[in-house]
Amino acid sequence: MFLKNYMEDYVLEKLDELIPKYPGCCFCDKCKQDIVNLALNHLPPKYVSTDKGELFARVEFFNQQCEVETIKQLVTAIEMVGAHPRH
Ligand SMILES: [Zn+2]
Repeated sequence: MFLKNYMEDYVLEKLDELIPKYPGCCFCDKCKQDIVNLALNHLPPKYVSTDKGELFARVEFFNQQCEVETIKQLVTAIEMVGAHPRH
């Protein structure tokens, strides 16, 4: 059975949209990984088990509340990692 947390894809997608708004922050692979980890730790996981399930989750997931919460957690994570990068 194929199982994955759909939030991983979604958070990465949203992070790419936010990067141009933070020209002062480092977004190397290490920092991006830290940002995504931090944000995911504060967001509820969304597991999907099949290709069909993934499509369903995608449709169901795209509501305003989830998007607002995801961006809020990402912005917090960007500021935290930006203030204390691990390198
Ligand atoms: Zn970095």
